[in-house]
Amino acid sequence: MQVARRIAIVTGGTRGIGEAICLALKDQGVTVAANYGGDDEKARIFSERTGIPAFKWDVGDFDACAAGVKQVEEALGGSVDIVVNNAGITRDATLQKMSRAMWEDVIRINLGGCFNMAHATYPGMRERKWGRIVNIGSINGQAGQYGQVNYAAAKSGIHGFTKALAQEGARFGVTVNAVAPGYIDTDMVAAVPAEVLEKIVAKIPVGRLGQASEIARGVAFLCSEEAGFVTGSTMSINGGQHMY
Ligand code: NDP
Repeated sequence: MQVARRIAIVTGGTRGIGEAICLALKDQGVTVAANYGGDDEKARIFSERTGIPAFKWDVGDFDACAAGVKQVEEALGGSVDIVVNNAGITRDATLQKMSRAMWEDVIRINLGGCFNMAHATYPGMRERKWGRIVNIGSINGQAGQYGQVNYAAAKSGIHGFTKALAQEGARFGVTVNAVAPGYIDTDMVAAVPAEVLEKIVAKIPVGRLGQASEIARGVAFLCSEEAGFVTGSTMSINGGQHMY
């Protein structure tokens, strides 16, 4: 599997699944830039460890995404060919306890971020007749999840966004796919109470949480030259927890 001389942005790339995606793309010969939202110290340590530059902007902010992409292109000396929309947050509560802000933040960052980043990069990919956009969805966007109407709606929206943009990009060499992880051992899942997590793991046929590197391998394939005939698809990587 080879992807040469391509430039990628991985949003939320400085830790967790995003960090693993950055490393997998770098391994394939891609020049990678990681975006992050606020944790400067984690970003600094990430860049020091991996040699991958990190750029801070809020993916939920339309203008910040346009400016961020420009900054990356100037710093790396080329156009962005690959975008992995990985940045995501949770603000969990049952509906009656969910504030409007909890709803809006999750929709703005998780779903709006995909639109904002595609808007800043897709026209150039289309013009150059090559591009790869991979959006990180979730098993909870496919199946729903108690206490996550905001997150499930945003992730489900990502799956629809993916299929619609895939239809627009297909004739121009731009593929758009989604990866739907199951429960992966990252900071996000560390925030789930232990007794809830135990019940979740009991429902995973392979009997364990996934590793970020297992998601990254799937994403790296979808970003490769060889994946040009794969578009509008959702790759579920979930230990068999949700099959359809
Ligand atoms: P983490 O919480 O470990 O990392 C999130 C990353 O997103 C960080 O780099 C963070 O930056 C960044 N980020 C958060 N908000 C913004 C923002 N507004 N603008 C830019 N960057 C932002 O997440 P995971 O690695 O666990 O998850 C990655 C993706 O995978 C998410 O989309 C998540 O929904 C999805 N997913 C995760 C699953 C899991 O089990 N972990 C399961 C299914 C889907 P900073 O460090 O600066 O805060």
